[in-house]
Amino acid sequence: MEVDLNAHPMYILDVLSVLARHVPFVQLMDMFRWEWPAPMAVDPEVKQRIWSKIGKYMPVDARPWFFPSLSDSGGALTGLFVLHILMENSEWAATYQGDVDMEIVVETGHEEPITSFFCDIEYKVGRIDIPPEFESTVESAYELVNDSGDEVLRVKIYVSKSSAASVVLSNRYTALMNVITREEVVVLCPTTTFANETLVCGTDHDDLLDDTKLPFQCFVDNSHWTTECGDECPMVYRKTFGDGGVRILKWDSKYVAEEGDTKQPLGDDRWASAESGWGGDGDERAMRTTHFCLKEAVRWRVSEECRRPGCPNAQALAARRAYISFV
Ligand SMILES: [Zn+2]
Repeated sequence: MEVDLNAHPMYILDVLSVLARHVPFVQLMDMFRWEWPAPMAVDPEVKQRIWSKIGKYMPVDARPWFFPSLSDSGGALTGLFVLHILMENSEWAATYQGDVDMEIVVETGHEEPITSFFCDIEYKVGRIDIPPEFESTVESAYELVNDSGDEVLRVKIYVSKSSAASVVLSNRYTALMNVITREEVVVLCPTTTFANETLVCGTDHDDLLDDTKLPFQCFVDNSHWTTECGDECPMVYRKTFGDGGVRILKWDSKYVAEEGDTKQPLGDDRWASAESGWGGDGDERAMRTTHFCLKEAVRWRVSEECRRPGCPNAQALAARRAYISFV
C-alpha cells in the first residue's frame, strides 16, 4: 500500500509545542538545545509558565513595564517563588501548589524603579526585618502589599549591600539559588534542585532537618550522591559567571496579552516606548542585558567538604590535610 506522506503532513513545531506543555522545566532547558524548531516551541511555554505566576500581581496594562522596571533596578525574581515555577510539571509539582509571596532581589541603591512600579499600581510599602540568612548581604528589606482585590498580594524586596547575586548566594538552601531576570532563567545548583533536593549551606543545621514545611528534601552533605560531582562538587569554588555547573535559559520576557485578558493587546508603538524607557544607546543596552551574575564576580562554594565517596576533590583535600598535620 502506498502512503502519501504529503496528505498527512507532520507539523513538527506543533508536536514539540504540545510536548513542551507537559514536560518539567529542566526538560524545557534541554529542549532549548535541540535543533530548530525546538527552541521555538520552548520560548512560548517558558513565557507562559512565568507570566502565569506573575500576572495576578499586576493589571494587564502594567505588565509590559514589570521586567523593564526590574531590569532598571538590577534585579531578579528569586526564592521559593521562582522554585515554584521551576518545579511545575515535575513529579513533585503537588508539593508546590500553595501560594507564595513574590520575592525580588535588587542592587544596592537601585530599588526605586521596581518599588515605584508597584506603588503606581496601588501597593503599599513597608519595611520588614531582614531574614537572618541575609543579614550579611542585605541592606534593607521591604514588603509591598496590595489588598484592594479578593486576594492580598505581597511582594518582598531585598536591597543588597553590594550585588543582587551575593544575596541569592547567601541562601541557606541551594534549592533557592535560582533567579529569573528580564532575559534569563538561572539555576545555580541544577542537579540537586531539579531532583527536589537541597544541600544546606553553612554548619548550623540543627533546626533545619525537622522543618517539614519545606517542599524539598534537605541534606546536610552530599554523601548520598552516587554519580560524579562534576562542576557542582560542593567543595569546589564556583564563579558567578562562566561556571560550568550553572544552567541558564535565555527567554523573552516581553508580555503579550492573552485571550481572556480584559484589555486589548498592546500595539507595536507601545512596545517601542516600553523598550526605549529603559535602554539608552546601543552600548548601554548591551551592558544592561549582560548576565545578572556578571554584575559582581562572586567566588563561592556550598561547603568546605565533599562527602561523596570517591570524589577526587575530597581525596585531594584529605591528602593535603595529612601532609599539613604531619608538618
Ligand atoms: Zn565532590
